[in-house]
Amino acid sequence: MILADGARAETFESLLASGELPQIREHVVERGSYRRGTSTFTSTTGPAHIPLLTGCFPGTVGVPGYRWFDRAAYRAWGPAAPHALRSYNGPEVAFLAKDMDQAQPTLYELIPDSVGVFGLMNRGLEKERNLRSREKPFIWSHSHWFHDYERADRWAGDAMVEAAALDSRFRFVAFPGIDWNCHYIGEDSPEATRSYKGIDEAVGKAAQALIRKGTYDETMITIVSDHGHRRIHTHFDLAVEIGRVHGIKTAYHSWPAFRPSFDGVVCVSGNGMAHIYLKGEDGTWRTRPSRETIRARHAGLLEWLVATPAVDIVTTRGDAEGELVVESRRGVADLRETRADGWIRYAVRDGADPFGFGALPGEMSSREALETTAETEYPDALAQIAQLFRTGRTGDIVVSATPGFDLRERFEWPEHVSSHGGLIRDHMLVPFASSVPLQEGPVRTADIATTVLDYLGVSAPPGVDGVTRLSQDTSATRADGAATASPASV
Ligand SMILES: [Zn+2]
Repeated sequence: MILADGARAETFESLLASGELPQIREHVVERGSYRRGTSTFTSTTGPAHIPLLTGCFPGTVGVPGYRWFDRAAYRAWGPAAPHALRSYNGPEVAFLAKDMDQAQPTLYELIPDSVGVFGLMNRGLEKERNLRSREKPFIWSHSHWFHDYERADRWAGDAMVEAAALDSRFRFVAFPGIDWNCHYIGEDSPEATRSYKGIDEAVGKAAQALIRKGTYDETMITIVSDHGHRRIHTHFDLAVEIGRVHGIKTAYHSWPAFRPSFDGVVCVSGNGMAHIYLKGEDGTWRTRPSRETIRARHAGLLEWLVATPAVDIVTTRGDAEGELVVESRRGVADLRETRADGWIRYAVRDGADPFGFGALPGEMSSREALETTAETEYPDALAQIAQLFRTGRTGDIVVSATPGFDLRERFEWPEHVSSHGGLIRDHMLVPFASSVPLQEGPVRTADIATTVLDYLGVSAPPGVDGVTRLSQDTSATRADGAATASPASV
C-alpha cells in the first residue's frame, strides 16, 4: 500500500492520461483498476491515515482531527494543554496510536510480518520492520528547515525497494513530498508534479525488486492518498476572530493552548476544518452544549459563523441524543445515524439543502450515502459528518471552510498556500489505483484496508467501516488459490 500523501485525484488522473506516470500505468493500473476514492472527515494527515490502516473512520476510533480537545479528560482548572488538548504537529504524533480505540486492531496487528515506512501510526508494527524510523526525525527536520520536500520521498522510494525484497505479506510506504510541496509551494506547482513522478519512478524500481524476488504476479500493489488539496487565497484566523468578535477567550494551537483559563477551544485541522468547543449549560466543561445551548449562551455566534465567507458547513448537536444539525448559507438539515452499521436519516428543512444536494432518500445505508453524493461538490459528506460525531472528542461546533479559505493564520511557518481537512470535493477526492481488479463504483479510503485484508485472506475484524471492493472474479480466484498461493500486498 503506497500512500502518496496529499495526492489529488484530478492531478493523478491527468498525469496518468498524459503518460507521465508510466510505471504506475504499467505495473498497477493496466493490470488492475483505477477508481476515484473519497477520504474521510477530517481529511487530514493523521486522522485520514487511520482508515487505510484500520478500515475504520477516525470518529469510530476516537481521533476526530489533527488537533482535538477532550473535555472528559480536562481536569476542570488550568490550561487545556497538554493533558486534554492534542496536536499531532510535533512530538505528540507519537500518541496517535494510543489515542485510537485499542479494541480496533490495525493492519499491522492483524498481519504480524508487516513492514512499514514513514507511517504516522505504527501500532503493532515491529520496531525492526519500521524501516528508516531512526532516520525519520532527521529527514523531517531537514525538510522543514531547508525547504527540501524531495529528499524524504527519495528515502521512502529506497525503503520501498528494500521492503519489496523482504518476506512480508503487507508493506505500507508513505511518501510525504506531494503534501509538503502543495502546502508550501502550491497544489499545482512544478515541485508537486515532480513528487508524483518521483513516486512513479519508485514504483518502477519496487516492481523490478518484486520481479527479481519472483513475487510480482501474486503481489497486489495499491496507490492511494489520504486527502486532496486546494489552493487558498485567504486565511481566516477562526480562533482569533471568535475572541475578537464574540469576546470568547479561546485556547488554540501554539502558546494559547496553555492559557491558564479559557472559555472556548478551537482546534484546526489541515487547515480546512475546525472543531470549536464551548462550555455547557451549567457554565462548566463538564457538560456539552447542544445547538440550542450555544444559541442561548452565545447569542449570534452560530448566525455569524454561517454568514462568515470563510465558513461553509457548520454542524452542531441537536437537543435529542444522536441528532445533528447541519447548516450553511444555503439551508439547514437534520442528520442522524440510525444504526450501528452507518445507516443515516437525513431531512432537509424548508426544502433548502445546506450542501445544495438534489433530492435524496430520507434514509440511506452507508453505501447509498456514498453513491448518491460521490459525484457532488461534497462527496460522502453525510456519512462522514455522522461518523465524526461518534466520538465525544468531536467539537460542539464543527466547521468546514469555504473553498479558497482556510481557518488559521497565526503561528504557522512556513505559511500554507494550499489546504485540506474539509468536506469539499478538492479535499475529499483521492486517487486509488490497484494492480488487482476492483468492483465498479466509488470507494472510500476505509474500503482499501478491508480490500487488502480480503486479498490476503485475513478476515476483517468486527466494527470496521470499510467493505471489500475486490472484483467478484478476483475474490473467487483468491478463494480457490488461497491454499496454494501466498499473496502479498505492497
Ligand atoms: Zn496527508
